[in-house]
Amino acid sequence: MAGSTDTADPPVVSPPLWLLAELTYRCPLHCVFCYNPTELERAGAELSTAQWVDVMRQARAMGAAQLGFSGGEPLVRDDLEELVQEACRLGFYTNLITSGVGLTEARAKRLKNAGLDHVQLSFQDSTREMNDFLSHTKTFELKKKVARIIKDNDWPMVMNCVLHRHNLPHVGAIIDMALELEAEYLELANVQYYGWAWRNRDHLMPTREQLEQAEAVVQRYRESIGKRCRLLFVVPDYFEERPKACMNGWGSVFLSIAPDGLAMPCHNARDLPGLQLPDVREHAIADIWQRSQAFNAYRGEDWMQEPCRSCDERHKDFGGCRCQAFMVTGDAAATDPVCSKSPRHERIVQFTREAATRRHIPLVFRSDPAPSRLGGNLGEKCS
Ligand code: SF4
Ligand code: SF4
Repeated sequence: MAGSTDTADPPVVSPPLWLLAELTYRCPLHCVFCYNPTELERAGAELSTAQWVDVMRQARAMGAAQLGFSGGEPLVRDDLEELVQEACRLGFYTNLITSGVGLTEARAKRLKNAGLDHVQLSFQDSTREMNDFLSHTKTFELKKKVARIIKDNDWPMVMNCVLHRHNLPHVGAIIDMALELEAEYLELANVQYYGWAWRNRDHLMPTREQLEQAEAVVQRYRESIGKRCRLLFVVPDYFEERPKACMNGWGSVFLSIAPDGLAMPCHNARDLPGLQLPDVREHAIADIWQRSQAFNAYRGEDWMQEPCRSCDERHKDFGGCRCQAFMVTGDAAATDPVCSKSPRHERIVQFTREAATRRHIPLVFRSDPAPSRLGGNLGEKCS
């Protein structure tokens, strides 16, 4: 049996507020910073429509109110409209997180009729050349058309662009593009080093000067455009002295369900050692949330080591990110090494220092295992 829900006395925990439904790992794009697992062949077959509906009903009954349809590319699922319709009937506020590939006018109408509330559209850059290079697909013009379709359907649009050393100098042009496409929000999220981005970190890591210049540009735009488009600039953890409150605390508000039905407190948790990830086909969502080993492993403070255990800031950041702690230190329960109080913080400083002098090495584009394993066609790469 996958996972375990046999904790003797379930702790009293608040219900999840966010359900992240990663419908599929399939995606027509091949982004060099994709946060999906690099070893997708370890994932099982996708949940069926009925199984997703059951997950949504259980999560909503517990109190979850926000639902993100994500992936991979969720539009590759033919049943997306059916899932959106059921989510809306249940009372979720629904958000589609998409590369735009597959959002035709006809499909947008059907999703609108199904009740979809919100769309988040990703771009890789403001230039066709860089957008298409980083995703290894010819998708730039298509994404612009999709932005128009989103506006024509009166959806609030969040435009998202992952930033790194290759596109940070374009941040002003990216904001201009968002204004031209009438995005309500622009999320300029500097790459976090998980999944494919971890594999490509030597190539993606910016310099501190690049970051400071980009942040200054964003601030100037904020002052000039006001509320026309809200700009969110997320500084990469590696350049901070304190970690972010990852997932707002483990098992606190986020419930993520992977395409193969494994439930996780964070969508990157698959790679953490020692976690018995429960399968929604075998366990009720309430049991998973309240009783499972995986959701209780880093909940609260009992698991913390020093210096977090006695730190007066532990209620702010909950010790940081477990995945980052594991990837950099080899110990998932260690203090996040981004924190300057961590005894392993020097490794992070070293990563960032080397950014300015790094040799050019080849980027690794996201690839997928055989389509049959993931349940469908993965689309064509551009040549
Ligand atoms: S980051 Fe790129 S490759 Fe990964 S799921 Fe999103 S669009 Fe697809
Ligand atoms: S020692 Fe731990 S709790 Fe304290 S600031 Fe650093 S990561 Fe946060």
